[in-house]
Amino acid sequence: MYATKFNRPGSKVLLSKISTRPPKKIERAEAEAETAALKQELFDLQELMWAARSHSLLTVLQGRDAAGKDGTVKRVFGALNPRGVSVAPFGVPTKEELAHDFLWRVHAHTPGRGEVTVFNRSHYEDVLVVRVHNLAPPAIWRPRYEQINSFEEILAAHGTAVVKIFLHVSLGEQEERLREREERPEKAWKLNPNDWRERGYWKQYTRAYQDAISRCATRQAPWYVVPGDKKWFRNLAVAQVLVESLRPLRRTWEKKLEADGEAGRAEVEAFRREHGDPARRGK
Ligand code: ATP
Repeated sequence: MYATKFNRPGSKVLLSKISTRPPKKIERAEAEAETAALKQELFDLQELMWAARSHSLLTVLQGRDAAGKDGTVKRVFGALNPRGVSVAPFGVPTKEELAHDFLWRVHAHTPGRGEVTVFNRSHYEDVLVVRVHNLAPPAIWRPRYEQINSFEEILAAHGTAVVKIFLHVSLGEQEERLREREERPEKAWKLNPNDWRERGYWKQYTRAYQDAISRCATRQAPWYVVPGDKKWFRNLAVAQVLVESLRPLRRTWEKKLEADGEAGRAEVEAFRREHGDPARRGK
């Protein structure tokens, strides 16, 4: 697997030991061909999931500014059938959101059976930005790791595949992307001095991410660290994570559809035996 997977609570997570770049042996052209094949498989899996209506997919996208969250939505989730896909972004909480518990606003957007939802930022901000900028005291944010694990356990018990992705970019790559936004008019809408301010907290964010990944790495809701410096490789690694998360369910969905098909056919046949074809009656 191209991403680094964490699925045991308390796993040792050291981001400095995980590369932000693709492995040397992978060429761009070959990666793009593999991505295309994975996106096709993802599309097929989504169609099955939609029809079977027993499971759903929640992808949590986290990363520093300019890590590529929007690009991942566009380039990877863009391959899916838009019917049944939604993207929920989570910015600075509103007054109403702050008046509720931190999971209230995210829970409202979790996918129903058959659906795919992408969180662009998420409930993890409540142990990241909140911790780094002391927006709440430790007595409030510390218990949240356990609360998040319980929340994600509830989602998994309902048949939601919870896939959490950290887009791992280097300090240098982030600088390049932020500068590019100043030079390219089509990227100007993303310009925000706050991104430069946040760079000053690089190390604090690293620690906060490491703790979040470590404490909330569970079997039912694993974390994946995806090398994000090269967009073509990031797309490949994310597509692979998604396909590998859904693939084990393929047989279950196919069986359910076969059973549904049999039951549906029996009902249609019983109807026709009793009523014939109403459109041709009397002809
Ligand atoms: P992005 O950087 O995610 O592409 P953006 O810069 O357009 O998006 P928004 O989506 O409006 O901005 O908001 C993102 C900002 O909201 C981030 O700075 C993030 O830290 C902040 N944020 C998200 N959740 C919370 C939270 N629970 N508490 C405080 N700030 C939060």
